Amino acid sequence: KLKTAIVTGASSGLGLYTTKSLIEKGDYHVVMACRSVEKAEREAKRLGFDKSKYTVMELELGSLENVRSFVKKFRGNGKLCKNLQTLICNAAIYYPNAVEPTFTQDGFEETVGVTHLGHFLLSNLLLRDLVAADDLGIDKRLCIVGSVTANTNTLAGQVPPRAAIGDMSGLANGLNGDRNKGAMIDGDRFIGPKAYKDAKLCNILTIKEMNRRWHEETGITFSTMYPGCIADTPLFRNHTPIFRFLFPLIQKYITKGYVTMEEAGNRLASVNSEPQYTKSGAYWAWKGGGDQLMDNYWDNSNRTEAFDNTPSKEAGDMQKAAKCFDLSVEVVGLK
Ligand code: NDP
Repeated sequence: KLKTAIVTGASSGLGLYTTKSLIEKGDYHVVMACRSVEKAEREAKRLGFDKSKYTVMELELGSLENVRSFVKKFRGNGKLCKNLQTLICNAAIYYPNAVEPTFTQDGFEETVGVTHLGHFLLSNLLLRDLVAADDLGIDKRLCIVGSVTANTNTLAGQVPPRAAIGDMSGLANGLNGDRNKGAMIDGDRFIGPKAYKDAKLCNILTIKEMNRRWHEETGITFSTMYPGCIADTPLFRNHTPIFRFLFPLIQKYITKGYVTMEEAGNRLASVNSEPQYTKSGAYWAWKGGGDQLMDNYWDNSNRTEAFDNTPSKEAGDMQKAAKCFDLSVEVVGLK
């Protein structure tokens, strides 16, 4: 029996190479959950994926209705659903230079709407399918990809504007304000790159809270991770050309935090399949990946060894995690 893994945003960058890595393990069938079915099919063909090892399904994270309909269709495929062992929430968008917010179909600021709220609904809905699926010999896993930029106790996380979700009044009001007020989680003025960092902070907090609520009861391993700086993925498509030229070079030759899409994909696939990653609630990072406390930043030894990184004060604040979770439940209509 092949184990089913769902990977969101599998049409590009980290998600695509995670899919490749899982397929190459031989015992996985990957559901590539993508906003463009056509693009995902094209990329799967380009990388020569074995057709019997993947299924492309449409998932638009900027629409709560679409997320619900994805889950319904997935449940409609009895075999895939019965074998579900792994959900990897990987998709994200990043608008580093945006001065005006854009919105999802439900009227949420788009960066947080897609990267946090869409995944929040998806993972809450699919939890019961993970629990109900057959036991295929590994612990079931639910992973939401994090980022160094959400962790302000690292060098990269210190670069302004820093992640900070404050009292979450903007989230409570549905992230539907304008550039001056209410489109950010903290309710303050809109700043494109901060919206991304805040969304990633919510991704980490969601995992910490899911672990607290459900790990013991369900046995599911909840984790988040920072794959290293994959400086040349299309995530940076909205940045200036000069940034896109210089950023990979700086990451490769100066900070040495650069990892290839292939290596990052292997890391995310391993976190979701290998026995050494069964610590629930962990935030995996790799040495030399930039996601370290500042006093050992330049330690580049043992790049292949993962460690459970220390979250920043805000990313490890369990009261905030619970509040973020409860507000998100209301905003996506799970109550
Ligand atoms: P990419 O832009 O290459 O991939 C993002 C994926 O998300 C694409 O498949 C994209 O689809 C999909 N996506 C975007 N919007 C939506 C939407 N509305 N609904 C459904 N899917 C959507 O970026 P990366 O591979 O770099 O990023 C993947 C993850 O890695 C993200 O969570 C990111 O935060 C994280 N990360 C990346 C780092 C890096 O250095 N690149 C560092 C740390 C973390 P499409 O192909 O159609 O555009």
